[in-house]
Amino acid sequence: MNYGVNEQGYYGDFGGAYIPEMLYPNVEELRSEYLKIINDDDFKEEFNQLLKDYVGRPSPLYHAKRYSEKYGANIFFKREDLNHTGSHKINNAVGQILLAKRLGKKRIIAETGAGQHGVATATVCALMGIECVVYMGEVDMARQAPNVSRMQMLGATVVPAKSGSKTLKDATNEALRDWIANPVDTHYIIGSVVGPYPYPDMVARFQSVISLETKKQLLEHTGKELPEYVMACVGGGSNAMGMFYHFLEDESVKLVAVEAAGKGVNSGHSAATTFLGREGVLHGSRTILMQTEDGQVVEPYSISAGLDYPGIGPQHAWLYKIRRAEYVSITDNEALQAGLLCSQLEGIIPAIETAHALAYLEKMKFNPTDNVVICISGRGDKDLDTYIKYFEY
Ligand SMILES: *Cc1c(COP(=O)(O)O)cnc(C)c1O
Repeated sequence: MNYGVNEQGYYGDFGGAYIPEMLYPNVEELRSEYLKIINDDDFKEEFNQLLKDYVGRPSPLYHAKRYSEKYGANIFFKREDLNHTGSHKINNAVGQILLAKRLGKKRIIAETGAGQHGVATATVCALMGIECVVYMGEVDMARQAPNVSRMQMLGATVVPAKSGSKTLKDATNEALRDWIANPVDTHYIIGSVVGPYPYPDMVARFQSVISLETKKQLLEHTGKELPEYVMACVGGGSNAMGMFYHFLEDESVKLVAVEAAGKGVNSGHSAATTFLGREGVLHGSRTILMQTEDGQVVEPYSISAGLDYPGIGPQHAWLYKIRRAEYVSITDNEALQAGLLCSQLEGIIPAIETAHALAYLEKMKFNPTDNVVICISGRGDKDLDTYIKYFEY
């Protein structure tokens, strides 16, 4: 089975580049150049150097002993929360800023939900001395205020998206509009494995360092490269894709992707895309998305801004359809409880996004010899207000 993208930009039935004609030159430039650029030795050297010295990679693979005792398996945390800026998003931002430089771009735009991608993008723009504009839903700006301040301190302009639910989907629409208006000098750094081809493949490649490192680290910890389970939360799906990437062909490894059920999959306030969605086109690619009978995008809901997205990347849609990965969901309440448990059992306050992946451990049955890797996609500093309000400290 081929799990990767084909030359037309598709994963089975999903992917492609469904874009307005005015975006065609931008996307076509990327499509024709991206593999040449990122496979170039000079690019690889600069990318790997920055991942090491600036991001702080390799991120540790931590054997979580108290979690292992509790759940009756060997549980490992892949610590993307320890990266500079606090999540996996920086891996992709570093890759794309190096690509933008080689394409001669002078201005960067981005969309952001939780603000982690905006912070990562503002960070690499400061690093390279490039102008940065970040679109963010007005609701997200309120619930992720510390990240807005961080972006501003880093020199970025944060523009509120005021349409629709004023969250990630709306910010993405605004960023696309900007790109259409500024086709020549601007590169759009998309923050997940979504958007028109080649973005889903490009972002997955930049994030694949997560599973590349994990294989080596597992070998050191357990004497085996392959675990029984690999788990991650899914918003658009970039930390999950990075975590799955080098295990896709290893069919013995079970891949578990955890979506946000919000207040419950049938509550009308949910972001459980595979459960609620159907095939259609969202933000430039054919994928699975939450939509009404007549194809209007349904407003998603999750307490976690990073998972509050009505679609998933096209590669995930394919992995779901052919059942290579299992897609499940976790409610707000379950996630917040898991965030508290992780804090108190392991001394690690996870992002609420990450807490969704951790919460699913409660619903699994393990053999004592199972090795389980969970992607700790980010740290919970940005979510402290939400945690505190919920637990009423
Ligand atoms: C953005 C974010 C996510 C969700 O995005 P993916 O592209 O699905 O990885 C998950 N965890 C954290 C910490 C994030 O910042």
